[in-house]
Amino acid sequence: MTTTPEKTGTFASLDPRTGDVVATHPIHSAEDVAAAVMRAREESAWWMALSFEERAEHLLTWKGVVTRRMQQLADLMHRETGKPHGDAALEVALAIDHLHWAATHAKKHLDRRRVPSGLLMANQAASVAYRPLGVIGVIGPWNYPVFTPMGSIAYALAAGNAVVFKPSEFTPGVGEWLARTFLEAVGRPVFSVVTGLGDTGAALCRAGVDKVAFTGSTATGKRVMAACAETLTPVVIEAGGKDAVIVDHDADLDAAVEASLWGACANAGQTCAGVERVYVHELVYDQFVAQLAAAAKELRATDSADSPIGPITMPKQLEIIRSHIADALARGGRALVGGTDAVGDRFVQPTVLVDVPEDSLAVTEETFGPTVTVRKVATVEEAIELTNRSKYALGSTVFSKARGMEIAEQVRSGMTAINGVITFAAVPALPFGGVGDSGFGRIHGADGLREFTYPKAITRQRFKPALALTTFKRTAKADQQLISMMTMMHGRGTTLPKAMKPRRGER
Ligand code: NDP
Repeated sequence: MTTTPEKTGTFASLDPRTGDVVATHPIHSAEDVAAAVMRAREESAWWMALSFEERAEHLLTWKGVVTRRMQQLADLMHRETGKPHGDAALEVALAIDHLHWAATHAKKHLDRRRVPSGLLMANQAASVAYRPLGVIGVIGPWNYPVFTPMGSIAYALAAGNAVVFKPSEFTPGVGEWLARTFLEAVGRPVFSVVTGLGDTGAALCRAGVDKVAFTGSTATGKRVMAACAETLTPVVIEAGGKDAVIVDHDADLDAAVEASLWGACANAGQTCAGVERVYVHELVYDQFVAQLAAAAKELRATDSADSPIGPITMPKQLEIIRSHIADALARGGRALVGGTDAVGDRFVQPTVLVDVPEDSLAVTEETFGPTVTVRKVATVEEAIELTNRSKYALGSTVFSKARGMEIAEQVRSGMTAINGVITFAAVPALPFGGVGDSGFGRIHGADGLREFTYPKAITRQRFKPALALTTFKRTAKADQQLISMMTMMHGRGTTLPKAMKPRRGER
């Protein structure tokens, strides 16, 4: 959306490595946001009327533009978030993959399909289709300013909705870039952007959108939900996490150390599904901790463009990270690497904490920095119990050769990676989202497409029923036949349908 006369001012996005201004952007007022939503509603009528194939063609054209200009987008992300170029390019690559999947799978998962009509309604053809809601308001965070919102934007568009996107005030340029390239590729502003601070996001919740897809902190998620409740606007909440890694005694330790370090420190730890806690079986704990500390000591966050770790994007997070480390140390924890001195003015150096009580901030709250707590456990069952104690439940990781699936099934989290880390986010067919304080609703996959739709059920009479039930002309004989039929079908109660009976060897 371009700057309008009603705009109430501008704000600057800054390079977090230097504090330099990257660009200034309009602060869109509540009136601007309402106008953007009204415009999107007009566009949604055109977009909704297209076939799945036509929408896919438009989205794939956009995908081509984004792909050809990946470097340009990665550079802008690098400047607005401070993240390394390589990380930015990887993020764009993952978003492109999701855009492709959403565009090419919407028909399969949303188009009208027949469902069994059952014996009582055997004369009916029953079918369901997933219809677009209309206009989706997407509110995104700064830490993955392309990948994260695209998990909502691409899927909402592919499902036939128009989208108005409010990017984080730290990454407005990235949001504008996405909307600009969409307009260039598609020719109509079915997807548009409004920029501003928190108030602009709040205005989007009240602007008459048909659903809000929010990604951000749990605290803001609650405010978004309260605002949406005023108009019964449904919401998806993708909030924070406190993800754990469980390392079993038979794990590939080199791989577990590598995954834990990368999961904790990549993007300077500012990853919703990043690693914040590690629980290690006592048989391999000493070796794991020694290897992790040695590897973490080698890793440095610097202002160089090719640094593996960039700055903390949001300055106020520095104090939160410092307070979590200080609390852990004050309660008897030890910093094997880093510590409170690791927190600088813009950068935080990797910090490995051990012997940290489970009720300290570094274990219970989202730190969102390159820090990790490691705890020795006597059994994997203890690790599962401690993992599941968190109020957050977004992702999780398991390293085990023999028991990976068994452990993963017992962890309370939306996603689990076995012998890898955060791999689930890169599989477009898999749903992504949390439980508890990590939120609800799903992006990605068939569930992510359906999140932006409503199911439309239709029954169509194919022939007159043998047993007329939904009529005042229903006879006593029909009532008797119904009772006999129900007794025959359901009277035995406990008989499992054949398809549900365990096969030999399954018990
Ligand atoms: P915030 O909650 O601070 O902000 C998220 C978005 O909400 C921003 O666009 C923000 O705008 C906007 N906003 C702020 N106040 C309001 C309001 N009252 N009404 C509506 N919108 C508002 O989160 P961060 O940007 O700091 O992102 C980090 C958080 O996001 C972490 O907790 C992280 O775990 C989580 N996250 C979750 C993911 C997931 O998929 N589960 C993925 C990525 C991040 P502004 O920036 O202008 O204030």
